[in-house]
Parts: sequence; structure tokens; C-alpha cells
Amino acid sequence: MHHLVLPAFAVGLGWVGYLARMVRASMLEVMGETYFRAARSLGISRPRIVYGYALRAAILPTLTLIGMGFGGLLSGAVFAEIIFARPGVGKLIFDMVMTRNFPVVQGAVLVTSVLYVNVILVADLAIAALDPRVRQSLQMVTGAVQDAAEIATAEGSIVVDGRDVGELSASEWTAFRRHLAMIFQDPVGSLSPRKTVRSLLAEPFHIHGGTDGSVESIIRRLCEMVQLPAPLLDRYPHEFSGGQARRVGVARALALEPSLVVADEPTAGLDVSVQGEILNLLAELREERGLSYLLVSHNLPAIRHICDSLAIMYLGRIVERGPCEAVFRAPAHPYTDALIRGIPRPDPAKRVLAAPIQGEIPSLINRPTGCEFRTRCPHATPRCSAEIPVERRIMEGRQVRCHHPLVGIA
Ligand code: SF4
Repeated sequence: MHHLVLPAFAVGLGWVGYLARMVRASMLEVMGETYFRAARSLGISRPRIVYGYALRAAILPTLTLIGMGFGGLLSGAVFAEIIFARPGVGKLIFDMVMTRNFPVVQGAVLVTSVLYVNVILVADLAIAALDPRVRQSLQMVTGAVQDAAEIATAEGSIVVDGRDVGELSASEWTAFRRHLAMIFQDPVGSLSPRKTVRSLLAEPFHIHGGTDGSVESIIRRLCEMVQLPAPLLDRYPHEFSGGQARRVGVARALALEPSLVVADEPTAGLDVSVQGEILNLLAELREERGLSYLLVSHNLPAIRHICDSLAIMYLGRIVERGPCEAVFRAPAHPYTDALIRGIPRPDPAKRVLAAPIQGEIPSLINRPTGCEFRTRCPHATPRCSAEIPVERRIMEGRQVRCHHPLVGIA
């Protein structure tokens, strides 16, 4: 029997390259999922997230493939050749086992497999050298990319509680992370499909620790807080409606009692009544827990309902900032004005017949000269093409980036 060890090892070795590619492809797919980013935002350590999330997802199709491979080998190469009496590798292996004549097959299989593995290895190294996605995935797995570097800014800085997060070391960032939380745009996609709600809510405590009571009692309190019935704790994310999944996302974000929650389109994909429930929930939690939200949204009525101050962006740059109510009452930038005029009003007498803004959004890689809004702005002048407007103060607490603001300069 010991004669079979080497051929078995050689046959297995021949599969290693193929299976490694398969695992890598599956891992890369998982790493692009929203729930993977959501787990990372909790501060899960690199080995835990790579092996607990990405590898776990990759193992199942790989095991299926191994099973199919063995099945194919047995049925195709052994049985078919024996049944039809057609000599081949299968017949050779069968005869070899029956007659205990191992050396020929041993040698042939070993040489073929080593050649096969070497060809795949050379091809993979060439791909890794040329393809930046593969390089990045390798860096991700090996830890060559630091968490702190991933939040590096193109310009400016991110300051939270007086600390520039770009300056934090990886260990400081891990500790600092529990004060920040994120609510992702896709409520169902941001929850791992392989975990129950109970384990999703328990995960932040396993990462950061620091609970006074039992994790189970805290999970139940979180459910009460977001009005999620406790019997749903043992269900999986795909069993939830968008509103329920959003409540799970909110509960998970608030588990560690953060001081700042970044909410990316928290009402996206929800019907209007559920949007109202979620917004009211966020507003209540803010009052109860003294939270701060950084809300990123296209939903202007939602922003008006929740926010104290807002910043309007066009082509990724802030064009107006100020207290929320003041901006809504008297927008200073023509783009803000067009957005606010475009909000649907439930009053037929106030129907807007013409779109408040014309033209297409310019390409980000071919930005207009001067003011970037000038190609769509009804107030544009020759100065707007020639000169980039700088941000300036128009009154207490309000800034605008426009040569001809709609509200007077202080
Ligand atoms: S700078 Fe000119 S083009 Fe730009 S928003 Fe102001 S008025 Fe319009």
C-alpha cells in the first residue's frame, strides 16, 4: 500500500495549482462584496477576516471541485476503461493495483505532475507580476497593505475628535475604530450570508471585547433598541426584508456605542414608509445616545429631517456648506438651488414642469475649466470659464464656491 502514497501525492500535487487559482478567484470575489467591507469596518483583524470570511466562502466550491475530480477520475479513467477493455491510464492504474506493479505508473504520474505544477507556477508568477489586482490580493492576504494606509486621502485630512486618522498607526487605528461605525448602503449585501443575525451582532464584541454584561443580553437589548423581534435572531440575512436588514445593520453599527456613525444612503432601496421608520429611529438614537452622524445621501428631504449642517458636492468637490435649514431656505450655489427645486412636492399647484437643471454631468477625467458647474449653470458668465471659484464665506457659518452666489456676501 505504501507504493500508492507517492502516486497519490503526485496526482494531488497536479491539482494544487488549479485549486489554488479557484480559491484565489473565490476569495477575490468575496473581498469585493459589501459584507466583507462591512466586516473590515468593524476592525476585524486581517488573518481573521481573510480566513474567516474569504477563505470560508472559497472552501465550499473547492471541496465540490475536488469531489467532482475524484468522481471523474474514478468513473472516467478507471471504470470506463475496464468496462470497455480500452487500455489507458485508468486500466494501467487498475492493473498496477491488482498486480502490485507500481514503479512505471509512479514515475509517469510524478513527472507529469511536477511539469504541470511548474508550468502553472511560472504562469501564476507572470500574472502576479503583471496584474495589479492579483498583486493587491496577495498584499491583502499577506498583510503588506496597512489598514491605516487604506484611508489615505487624495487631499486634505480626516480629523475625528481632534485626531487625524491618516496619522494613526495600525494598532492605534484598531483601537480607535470602536468609536466609529458605518451603516452601508446595501442593507442585505452588507451582512454576511453565512452568519445568523445573532453571530453578526456578537461579532463586534468578539473583536473588541469590553462588555460589562453577557453578549446575549446585550444583543437582545440591541434588538429592542432597533425594534427587531428577538425570534429573528437565528435567521440568516437573506430571510429579511430591506427594512429588517437595515435595522440589523443599525444595531450592528451601534453595538460598541460609537461616537460617530457614517451612514451611506441609509434609506436606499427602502419604500417610503420604511424610510420614515429608519429616519425616525436614527433621530431617536441620536438623542438617546448623543451620537453624531455623517450622512451621505441623495435624499434631500431625509437630510433636512436629520442633519444640523450639510455640505453639497458636485463632481466630488464641496460647492456649498452651512447650517441645514439656512441652506434649504436660501441656497447660495446654483447647483444647490437646482437640487432643492427638484425635490418633488405633494401639491399639484406647485408642480415643476421643467427640469431645474439641464445638460449632462461632465466626465470626471475631463473636468470643465474654471467652475466645474458652468456647463450646466444658468448664471454662468465668462468669468466662470476663466477662473476657478474658491470657497468663501458669505455669512456666519456659510461657505460657497461660486463667483455669483445667489445669497449676498457678508
Ligand atoms: S461660478 Fe459661475 S458657473 Fe459656477 S456656479 Fe457660480 S455662477 Fe454658476
